Amino acid sequence: AKSKGQGLAETYTPAIGQETKEHMGLLQGIYHAFADQRFFLVYQPQINLFTNEVTGLEALLRWRTADGALVPPGRFIPVAERSGLIVTLGEWVLRSALEAWKVIRDAGYADLRMAVNVSLVQCKHPAMLDMLDHILVDSNADPAHLELEITESVAIMGMAQVVSLLKAIKERHIDVAIDDFGTGFSSLSYLDRLPVDRLKIDRSFVAPLDDSRTGARIAEMIVSLGHTLGITVLAEGVEDPEQAVILKNIGCNEAQGYLYAKPMPLNELLVWLANWQGG
Ligand code: C2E
Ligand code: CA
Ligand code: CA
Ligand code: CA
Repeated sequence: AKSKGQGLAETYTPAIGQETKEHMGLLQGIYHAFADQRFFLVYQPQINLFTNEVTGLEALLRWRTADGALVPPGRFIPVAERSGLIVTLGEWVLRSALEAWKVIRDAGYADLRMAVNVSLVQCKHPAMLDMLDHILVDSNADPAHLELEITESVAIMGMAQVVSLLKAIKERHIDVAIDDFGTGFSSLSYLDRLPVDRLKIDRSFVAPLDDSRTGARIAEMIVSLGHTLGITVLAEGVEDPEQAVILKNIGCNEAQGYLYAKPMPLNELLVWLANWQGG
């Protein structure tokens, strides 16, 4: 890990000059945290609303500082993105998630999907596909169980480039999910042309789901859009049973949120999986 930390510093030093002081501090913190192995992953289960089975897991990055505090990803990921560090950090995330997937498979859960968040910066990186090929060879994990979560921000790359990237990802039998769906600016025709396996309804459209059903309109529209395009739809941030019932009624396929489980470290996840009564 030490040599990797040095590699980071060498590769990205030129970008540091553009960062503000606060970002510089955070950026240095990220280098050191990476070298000192202070990053780890937590995993949040995804549930089929109709069978109650666990279908997948989303890997989420955590940084614990030397004094034990957790730095939220919302704080350090944008800094890692702006500096380009996310490329190296993201590769580590993918490798670690695949290692965890193998442990989970060997514990008897061979069918679970492992979803990993991938930034626009990573998608734009020329070595993205080479990196994927390398980690797949190195991990010897089944790519058919890997899913990459990208946001609508990839639209910035331009249609032709996104389509060719996603096609190349699909050729590797890796799934693609559109994260935070409904908050970005992708057009419908755009979505129709992308080889996408899953839409993740952003939490902001799940929160207003209640008895009245008026809050369900956008979620309902996303579900029917997804189904028209032949795409599975998953709702994020499901916190109470009422929301789950409404989502099921509007035909949403899957759900993820505190109602089922918070993101957990691997050892806790294995205990949770063994105790999950839904399956
Ligand atoms: P996201 O991809 O939309 O991840 C879902 C976020 O919602 C996670 O926050 C998760 O802990 C939280 N969440 C899950 N269920 C619930 C719920 O029922 N209620 C509420 N209020 N929140 C819920 P987290 O872990 O803090 O991650 C924040 C964001 O940081 C992620 O949003 C993602 O954009 C980014 N992120 C996390 N890990 C990675 C990573 O490895 N790579 C990249 N590029 N981004 C990451
Ligand atoms: Ca996500
Ligand atoms: Ca698959
Ligand atoms: Ca999301």
